Amino acid sequence: MPLKITFLGAARCVTGSRYLVEGNGTRVLVDCGLHQERPHRERDWAPFPVRPDSIDAILLTHAHLDHSGLLPKLVREGFRGPVYCTMATREIVQIILLDAASLQEEDAEFKKNRHKREGRTVAHPEIPLYTEFDARACFPQLTAVDYGQPVAIGDGFEAAFFDAGHTLGSAMVRLKVRDGGEERAIVFSGDMGRPGKPILRDPTNFREADYIVVESTYADRLHEPEEQTIAKLAEAINWTARAGGNILIPSFALERSQEVLYYLNRLLLQSAIPHLAVFLDSPMAISITELFEQHPELMDEETRALLRAGRSPFDFAGLHLVRTVDESKAINHIGGTVIIIAGSGMCTGGRIKHHLVANISRPNSSVLFVGFQANGTLGREIAGGSPEVRILGKDYPVHARIVQFTGFSGHADQNQLFDWLGRFEKAPRGVFVTHGEETVSEHFAGMVTERTGWRVSVPDYGETAELD
Ligand code: ZN
Repeated sequence: MPLKITFLGAARCVTGSRYLVEGNGTRVLVDCGLHQERPHRERDWAPFPVRPDSIDAILLTHAHLDHSGLLPKLVREGFRGPVYCTMATREIVQIILLDAASLQEEDAEFKKNRHKREGRTVAHPEIPLYTEFDARACFPQLTAVDYGQPVAIGDGFEAAFFDAGHTLGSAMVRLKVRDGGEERAIVFSGDMGRPGKPILRDPTNFREADYIVVESTYADRLHEPEEQTIAKLAEAINWTARAGGNILIPSFALERSQEVLYYLNRLLLQSAIPHLAVFLDSPMAISITELFEQHPELMDEETRALLRAGRSPFDFAGLHLVRTVDESKAINHIGGTVIIIAGSGMCTGGRIKHHLVANISRPNSSVLFVGFQANGTLGREIAGGSPEVRILGKDYPVHARIVQFTGFSGHADQNQLFDWLGRFEKAPRGVFVTHGEETVSEHFAGMVTERTGWRVSVPDYGETAELD
């Protein structure tokens, strides 16, 4: 069967998920993500390797930008097919793409002014990768499908989405391709969540597949247990409250912000932390939190029961939802300790930068990293212990207390990845390890081969593999 897959991102890196599957004259793209790691960002500007109008459909696993963020560009360049995704992803991705577009526009404007001021000529034109107009233009193509509902595409392709437990609406994708009497099934893990985590339902296990594309973000480590994470969070908050500084929590608007609210709520109910003012300083996170409250059917039993009883686990006394920039700036004038949750999650943009400027050099403030910090981001620099960092064009010494958490992760750890792979009952024809830092993916691939004897590889960026 002449079937092939080309890895157009998240290959030996963690962002830019895009996998092109071709066969029977049909082309399907699984995810259409942005590269967020600085050394790879050029790839987002490069022309797509096949004509966008020759792609029959896109399958979107979830709304995070590194899986969805290049959609507006592909549509602008001529992609006219459906973008299949779950109902919740369809709602969330519109919020996320509009925000991304406005950040791209602001960023281009900011750079243009700076380069003009510095009298510099630069190689890249200071234009946004795409605009709000481009983002809106792709919305009509977003097509919601239910979990488990098969969708026929082109000649002999059939796709279905299954719970991934990673974000609200997140999915693993199974793609079946029929050619004459033969059939091949490819399972894409997407970003795989963690079984047993609060709020969302658990990731799906599969029993068979011919090919598996599995993520490896945290394939080199084991997450700390939940109780330990909660205790550490309480300790960090209490320490800062005693010291009199502020608590900054850089956070992704989708999932992590709601999770942080959920745990703060729990700590307050247990009286494990003082009643501090908590600012959710992100219009996007606020909108997404509202969507969480509208989708109890996607939650685990415990959360569903709370929502049904009219008690949101994401709301509590002392929580302030900050929508305007003026309100956001005003937070810096409040005396005493406050908790600020703001984006972006890796400090690459957004309101968190202004809060970092105000707090990063204060020894009594703290920055709590609750999400993955990719190489080449400001978040990684701070979390990695840089004594001085550059924020919005100025250098600041780092005196704030830096605390890193792995227990919040929305990704399966090494044991959980092995457990998921272990549910496949017979050896697949091939496994591709993606969405991880190079050394992590390679090491994990080696471990899988050693334990199972399966054919496992770590594809390169742009590599094509035949799926026979
Ligand atoms: Zn994700």
